[in-house]
Amino acid sequence: MLQRTSTPIRVGDVVVGGNAPITVQSMTKTDTRDVEATVAQIERLTRAGCEIVRSAVPDMEAANALASIRARISIPIIADIHFDHRLALASIDAGVDGLRLNPGNIRRRTHLQKVVAMAKERQIPIRVGVNGGSMPADYRAGELEPERMVALAMEQIGMLEDMDFGLIKVSLKSSDVLTTIEAYRLIADRIPYPLHLGVTEAGPPSTGGIRNALGIGILLHMGIGDTIRVSISGDPLLEVDNGREILRSLGLAQSGPQLISCPTCGRTTLDVPGLATRLSEYLRDIRIPLRIAVMGCTVNGPGECRSADIGIAGGVDKVMMYRGGTFLRSIPTEQAFEALTQEIASLAAAGSNHVE
Ligand code: SF4
Repeated sequence: MLQRTSTPIRVGDVVVGGNAPITVQSMTKTDTRDVEATVAQIERLTRAGCEIVRSAVPDMEAANALASIRARISIPIIADIHFDHRLALASIDAGVDGLRLNPGNIRRRTHLQKVVAMAKERQIPIRVGVNGGSMPADYRAGELEPERMVALAMEQIGMLEDMDFGLIKVSLKSSDVLTTIEAYRLIADRIPYPLHLGVTEAGPPSTGGIRNALGIGILLHMGIGDTIRVSISGDPLLEVDNGREILRSLGLAQSGPQLISCPTCGRTTLDVPGLATRLSEYLRDIRIPLRIAVMGCTVNGPGECRSADIGIAGGVDKVMMYRGGTFLRSIPTEQAFEALTQEIASLAAAGSNHVE
């Protein structure tokens, strides 16, 4: 996989771009003015593997709340601002690590200059982003959507560059997968800045996860992209889970377990979906590379289990457990979850013991 090389920026203590690992982001869905709820959600996201979080700043109360939120979380936070430069200034003052702001949304140049000067002084990056759905309908009417998105993004980027500001990150999101891919592809060679990938307004988990996996996954496989946010109408935890799985599937994740489970069929002798769901929850806090297989029978089970660090394959009233690629023991089916989690805990305690 080729990797487009971008000029790295720092979002707090996280490097985005250059040779840095691709990061997973999400956005809080709480009212930012509600500090307790927002901090609680960010803590959940952090445990799930979120590396950068963004929060909407609709008014001054929300901007002011960012200081309390920032003081209580352990990952960088980005303030999402539209139209009002005073919210950007207050957010920077509150200690945010980045801004999501389109310069064209700030009417007066003097106001934008104030924001840019303060961001430069604090070394805070600004993400410039075009969302297909919010482009003016008459903007370059007649041109194709990806070209229109790129042109608008270049205008926004130019406004920051004119003010000698280069801590820029760029996104070009559409709800249409092919438009998103084409827009990022078109801009990739034209700017040196890190690219934040995502398919926006992608729907509930059933469709949002798939559209984002396709859009983000294809772009990453083309070597384009430095940080990702899966957009889902639902729990933001799912955005992080999906984002991490996209990276894992492409061999780009730095760590974390991979759960393999069979689709089940008429041969299945244990509750594979139930076990897989419980295990997914359990594995949230595990950070070492680990491959776990949950297989419903002995047809494909032993093969998958032998290539996993820990695996079980269903038998009659019992499951066969494998560890490190070899058969370990048989256990009663109803004890499968406890036995699996005991083995996983012991591997996690010992550090990585990954079967390659
Ligand atoms: S592993 Fe066995 S139970 Fe699972 S889908 Fe394959 S054949 Fe069916």
